[in-house]
Amino acid sequence: ENGILAPSDGGLLRKTKRRTRFCAEAPFPYQETDLYGDEMVASEDVEKVFQGAEAGIDKYLALRALHAKDPRGYYRLLVEHTEEVLPFIYTPTVGEACQKYSKLNIQTTGLYLSLADRGRILDKLRSWKHGDKVSAIVVTDGERILGLGDLGAGGMGISEGKIQLYTAAAGVNPDSCLPICLDVGTNRESLLEDPDYIGMRQKRPTGIPYYSFLDEFIQALKAWRPHLLLQFEDFGNHTAFVLLNKYRNQLCCFNDDIQGTAAITLAGILGALRLKSGGLTDQKILFHGAGEAGVGCGELIALALNVWHGVPLPEARKRILFMDSKGLVCKQRVAKLQDHKIPFAHDLDYAPDLLTAVKLHKPTVLVGVSTQKGAFSEEVIRAMCDNCNRPVIFPLSNPTSKSECTYQEAFEASEGKVIFASGSPFDPLTMRDGQTFYPAQANNAYIFPAVGHAAILCKAKCIPDEVFLEAAKCLSGLSSDRDLVKGKLFPSFSEIREVSATITAHLCKYICEQGLGEAPEGLEGSDFSAWLSYAREQMYEVRG
Ligand code: NAP
Ligand code: MN
Repeated sequence: ENGILAPSDGGLLRKTKRRTRFCAEAPFPYQETDLYGDEMVASEDVEKVFQGAEAGIDKYLALRALHAKDPRGYYRLLVEHTEEVLPFIYTPTVGEACQKYSKLNIQTTGLYLSLADRGRILDKLRSWKHGDKVSAIVVTDGERILGLGDLGAGGMGISEGKIQLYTAAAGVNPDSCLPICLDVGTNRESLLEDPDYIGMRQKRPTGIPYYSFLDEFIQALKAWRPHLLLQFEDFGNHTAFVLLNKYRNQLCCFNDDIQGTAAITLAGILGALRLKSGGLTDQKILFHGAGEAGVGCGELIALALNVWHGVPLPEARKRILFMDSKGLVCKQRVAKLQDHKIPFAHDLDYAPDLLTAVKLHKPTVLVGVSTQKGAFSEEVIRAMCDNCNRPVIFPLSNPTSKSECTYQEAFEASEGKVIFASGSPFDPLTMRDGQTFYPAQANNAYIFPAVGHAAILCKAKCIPDEVFLEAAKCLSGLSSDRDLVKGKLFPSFSEIREVSATITAHLCKYICEQGLGEAPEGLEGSDFSAWLSYAREQMYEVRG
């Protein structure tokens, strides 16, 4: 109807690498760089590794086999063909891998710490093979993996997948990376009954037994290595906020679901604002889903309005609305709301469902973090178009099967007006006139590896939310106007190393200027270009 032919071929293989061109009009202009030539990417390596592997999960296993056999070759593939292999080590395939983890017969590359290790967690850490090199840890307790719920010990797959992005995207040495899964049981009956299940066969503890175990873990980390960077990943939303607030000033840590997602979403919104009329202060933002991702984003956007535009925080929060499983979060529900939602329980008319909320409160930006497939119906998208000329619609739920809508659905229902980003990748759309439009992927991997690497390089004491604001601002300035018009809110993932180096450099400078960490010798008071050279130098080399 809208002249769309069909999703064009994903075209991941044999794509020409583009030059990074940093846009002068961007809110965050940097110099142009030209690290990449226009040479074709050789895909033979990838094709060889994937030979005979049809399904995503088989490609995942093929990559793991290569990792076990030839780690250096594996990392070379990962770094040089990140865009092609990413879907198989990360979302969407990693979700399936976590679900099937106990059945895949794989050797874990990470460290399990279980309730049975109570009292000797420090010993277990000390006996880790590359213990003297570890500087980056991703930890999960498997309670809420992607949008797939409690996968218990299968959550190891997410720590393993995410930590590899530190190397692939930001060049952190793989020997210094440690994926950890805290095995505290699972509440999923099907796992507890599964004879193959590798985790502890018990329900998850809550309250003191849980938090004291977590505390032993954190204190052991602090005693084990100075200057560790800890990333919390895929914890349940009743523990994630508690743990982050408890430990964010005790050690250098962040929660990617809360803060990393917030930064990539804010970067996407800042990019979108370059395409539509009005600034951040003119937007009304509705989140469908009020969990870690949603509330994390809401808080960071409020902070952006406060720090960049001088809007007092309580005022800023009023421009941000939430739906949860019980409808619009609002004042009349406040007595029964979880703590993290309360700052957003505004004095507003309740709406039981999304369509009503969109019609009643007229958001200009709609973000899906609800894990509810199809929640952004044609009617919802049409109603968004009544509110402004270019609605920003970000269905972020992962994996693909949970996405609130597809790119094609959003594009068709909005007659091409949508400014779109999704959590999982979708194919581009080619029009009858030959024009192609691209869905942006709001991939946290644009943010967390660079944040982590900067924190490591500067021995950051802690990572306040302002660091994520800086990361979002920096990233949003890295796509050209030409790409933005085609839908590419973020630079191409094939340029992730240079993107990460830029963000890392910017954050190193910021962290040191704010007194949150220490500049390596000779870099005190340096300008951005000196930091950029340093960030590039510090990246793990896969050749030579
Ligand atoms: P979470 O903490 O479990 O939160 C899920 C939220 O969705 C809860 O607030 C829940 O409501 C709400 N919800 C459930 N059913 C709903 C319904 N029918 N209508 C409206 N809201 C509903 O999960 P999360 O960490 O925020 O992650 C949510 C999703 O975002 C996941 O699929 C995840 O993969 C995705 N995500 C994407 C990115 C990215 O694209 N970069 C990053 C992070 C997360 P209640 O509070 O009432 O239970
Ligand atoms: Mn996550």
